[in-house]
Amino acid sequence: MRKLRAFIRENRLLAVLAGAFLLLSPLLLWQVAAWTERAALAEIRAASGHTLKLTVASLRGELSKFEALPRLLARDSGILTFLSAPPGPGAVVAMNRRLEEVNKLYGASDSYLMDAEGLTLAASNWNQERPFVGKNFAFRPYFQDAIAGRTGRYFALGTTSRRRGYYFAHPVGDPEAPLGVAVVKVGILPFEAAWAERPEQVMVTDAAGVVFSASDPGWHYKTLAPLDEATLARIDESQQYAGVPVLPLALSEERVLGPDARLVEIAGRQGAPESAGVGGGAPRRYLAHSAEMPEAGWTVHILKDTAGLRGRVIGAVAVAAVVLLALALAAGILVQRRAILRERLAVQRRVRAELEQRVDQRTTELLAANLRLETEVAERRSAEDKLRRTQDELIQAGKLAALGKMSAGISHELNQPLSAIRSFSDNAQVLAERGRYDEVRGNLGQISGLTERMARIITHLKTFARKDRGERGAVALRPIIDDALALLETQISGAGVTLRYRPPTEGLQVLGGSVRLQQVLLNVIGNALDAVAGGERPEIAIDVEAGPERVAIAVRDSGPGIAATALPNVFDPFFTTKEVNQGLGLGLSISYGIVESFGGTIRAANRPEGGAVFTIALPRAEAAEREEPDPWRKLAG
Ligand code: ADP
Repeated sequence: MRKLRAFIRENRLLAVLAGAFLLLSPLLLWQVAAWTERAALAEIRAASGHTLKLTVASLRGELSKFEALPRLLARDSGILTFLSAPPGPGAVVAMNRRLEEVNKLYGASDSYLMDAEGLTLAASNWNQERPFVGKNFAFRPYFQDAIAGRTGRYFALGTTSRRRGYYFAHPVGDPEAPLGVAVVKVGILPFEAAWAERPEQVMVTDAAGVVFSASDPGWHYKTLAPLDEATLARIDESQQYAGVPVLPLALSEERVLGPDARLVEIAGRQGAPESAGVGGGAPRRYLAHSAEMPEAGWTVHILKDTAGLRGRVIGAVAVAAVVLLALALAAGILVQRRAILRERLAVQRRVRAELEQRVDQRTTELLAANLRLETEVAERRSAEDKLRRTQDELIQAGKLAALGKMSAGISHELNQPLSAIRSFSDNAQVLAERGRYDEVRGNLGQISGLTERMARIITHLKTFARKDRGERGAVALRPIIDDALALLETQISGAGVTLRYRPPTEGLQVLGGSVRLQQVLLNVIGNALDAVAGGERPEIAIDVEAGPERVAIAVRDSGPGIAATALPNVFDPFFTTKEVNQGLGLGLSISYGIVESFGGTIRAANRPEGGAVFTIALPRAEAAEREEPDPWRKLAG
């Protein structure tokens, strides 16, 4: 119920339409019924109108044929003579015969002659069971009209013959004072026999509304409406219906369809006189189409049974109802489809909204993560910068430490030529005083050579002390090793160390920085010197091996080697086995960082024959160029 109310609220227009449909459907069906009935009635009416016209025309033809006959008889001289004086028995027989002949010739029911008193003198039925001869019909209105000088017309049930018929009467002789009256009676039965064949009912009423002829015998002598007393009395007096009681027909008027057509319901069964008019049998509905016949004072009715009408109306209504139902069903299906579609759309919208929300949430999370990452990257970068600065400072510190270590050797290296220079110059002074200028020249040459050597030492020192920019490039290897050995020369020779050095080819280049690479070599060779110091036959070997990709510099010594426990830690910062003043434990860790920054490696190992070996492997410059071509050049090419 709540669902329905919600549905109505959501589909207000639809609810209004459904309500309108429910309200209008019966109205529409009623309209269809009315329209179908109207159309069917119009059809029936058109058909019955046609039948009516034909029926009236045929009746009119019959009547006009017989109307002339009494006038002809009245003019006949024989009849005039017959009525002018009371006839003898022979004349009567002759006249009877003649009338019989004429009657047969015209096909009338009866023909007869009456005197001025209404007594029948001769008749065509003279030799039948109930002949008219000798009967007085002065009470009949047709006689009264004719004796008054007018043509008499009358319908009645024959009092003698008990047969219904139409009477035509004409005065014989002077109309002011007629000798008698000539009468022709036309039977009604032949018409009715023809009507009985027809699908519709035919009914003829007289001026008073009494049915004197009908295709259904049950309707004979019935009236369309109850008769007043005077009319009933007149009928009785004229013995029009020979004493048969005139009762109203059980007819009820349902609807007036026009001036000449009505819808009527008549009770009783056709063809069953005993049941007609007073109930018995189901009532029938007829479309009654009527036309006046003023010349006879009749009204002719055609009654068309409307039994099929209801069926047609029900059929049309059923079809309309089915169509409406189908429409409603189709509308229902459409509405349901729409509802399903709407629901599906709503679900889709909801899913999309959820998805969008999830995407939004995810985006926010991602943005936050991104922000965090960026912060982390920035922090890492600043840490790296800091580290690099620290490392640079360390390198510098390491260099200074090495310098400190080397200072004794260097000062000795410088002092030696200095004192030699001093003695050479002192000697030169003395020699100059003595005029031994050749020897003075020799001394000056010695001094010049010594200063050259000193200058060379100082140049090495300057190079070493220089702070390089930490960049990597192709550098020639040999001068770097040579410079390092030059700086250590005093220490090497002072300690009596045998140096075995196989210098590399001149053009061999590695990737690195010359100052830092020299610092590494100074450190490693310095350590080797420390290791061999005090040994029996101190020996240091430096070998360079150039591969296609890499260049390996191996520094071997004949020292005690590295203790197995110390081997994994030698590259750690502040790891040292030396006396406090002897070492800081930074040399190898700095060297490790420098070699790594060149894309190289440094390894420490013990030699099987004793002593340690430090191998520095560096990328070969030409090889590096081959391996790492300029990506831009590569793209352009
Ligand atoms: P330091 O020389 O100041 O001790 P290093 O980092 O240069 O610092 O060396 C660390 C340690 O590695 C040394 O104390 C020494 O024990 C060991 N070591 C280095 N070179 C050799 C070598 N050639 N032979 C034996 N031990 C060595």
